[in-house]
Amino acid sequence: MAGPLFFQSGAGCPIIGAVSKTSLPPLFKRLPRNPQERVLDGKRNLKDLTHSEMEEFFLEIGEPRYRAKQVLQWIYNRGVHEFEEMTDLSKKLRAKLADCAVVPTLQLRRVSESESQDTKKYLFDLPQGGEVESVQMRYPDEMGAGRVAVCISSQVGCAMGCNFCASGVMGLKRHLSTWEIVEQVTRIQKDLTPQGERVANVVFMGLGEPLHNYDEVLRAVRILNSPDGLGIGMRHLTISTSGLVPQIQQLSNEGIPLRLAISLHAVRDDLRSQMMPVNRRWNLESLMSACAEYYQKTKRRVTFEYILLSGVNDSREEAEELAELLNRHEIHSLVNLIPWNPVDGVPYERSTPQAIRTFQTTVAKSGIKCTVRQEKGADIDAACGQLRLRDLKERQV
Ligand code: SF4
Repeated sequence: MAGPLFFQSGAGCPIIGAVSKTSLPPLFKRLPRNPQERVLDGKRNLKDLTHSEMEEFFLEIGEPRYRAKQVLQWIYNRGVHEFEEMTDLSKKLRAKLADCAVVPTLQLRRVSESESQDTKKYLFDLPQGGEVESVQMRYPDEMGAGRVAVCISSQVGCAMGCNFCASGVMGLKRHLSTWEIVEQVTRIQKDLTPQGERVANVVFMGLGEPLHNYDEVLRAVRILNSPDGLGIGMRHLTISTSGLVPQIQQLSNEGIPLRLAISLHAVRDDLRSQMMPVNRRWNLESLMSACAEYYQKTKRRVTFEYILLSGVNDSREEAEELAELLNRHEIHSLVNLIPWNPVDGVPYERSTPQAIRTFQTTVAKSGIKCTVRQEKGADIDAACGQLRLRDLKERQV
């Protein structure tokens, strides 16, 4: 799901209301699973395995279960992907692993860093085709010096068709597999390690709708969280969704205290359905009920992202309606306002500073915490799809 950095991401449908009902994305069909899943170049892809699957793999090849922990530590703690470098394994085992398994990595195609050096955007090539984008952000005040947040993608493209987003224009190419999701974090961690920094927070707000790729995203979450994986606490992992109600309900029953963020952007169904076709399938009432259930079951505060568009959704009345909607459903909420940054081809305008302040204070007066998103990376195409689109354009020139 496009998030704070990714929202204003390119040449979305130019006019609110231009998305017809017939253009609704095929949300409800599961894409066929990739037959090459968990296997790469004919070998078992160890980065695509959870801890228990890794143990099964070692048993399958006649090795003790504890080898899984050793190899996981090499992969995730030390960032090693060559068996030859795993020196506490015997030479015989290293050769055996090289014959039947692989520890792949994503190839970095392009990186851009903001002038302030607090935001860095990565474009990775995927071994099976396509590209994926991720962003590294420093929020020293919130997380302590040397701690970094990473925003990752869950799909190549996106089926959701939000009319302000380049990913929606691309359409969905494919789901990312577990390792392609996790590897975005491990590659960035590798970049941070020499400075003694570490990834503290991961947000699924890049390209794609994470809950549309539910199984792979949840597997990735478990690897990111595992002490033998990256050891990032569940409370530091955020999934952002455009509003897939059945998957939100499913997530609330997983028994894991993930942070949930909802890309809301409108408080009236007609406007939200124009901006986000998903609302035609699950309207605001059903979305709010699912969020209330999520809060009741997990006791996790739900974040509502709200992109402010001048004259579209930024009136005082809409701020009051937003507060009423959240309070009526008794959801412990944080509202995060995102001022719009102009994007080529998208005819929205930024709200005035006065309108942003009025919206914020109106929501806050109702007792709901309301923040305005810090803007990061505007000088590096940090919106989702932008780096990829720029790269494509440059290659076509
Ligand atoms: S089209 Fe997809 S990636 Fe873009 S904002 Fe909508 S859900 Fe997010």
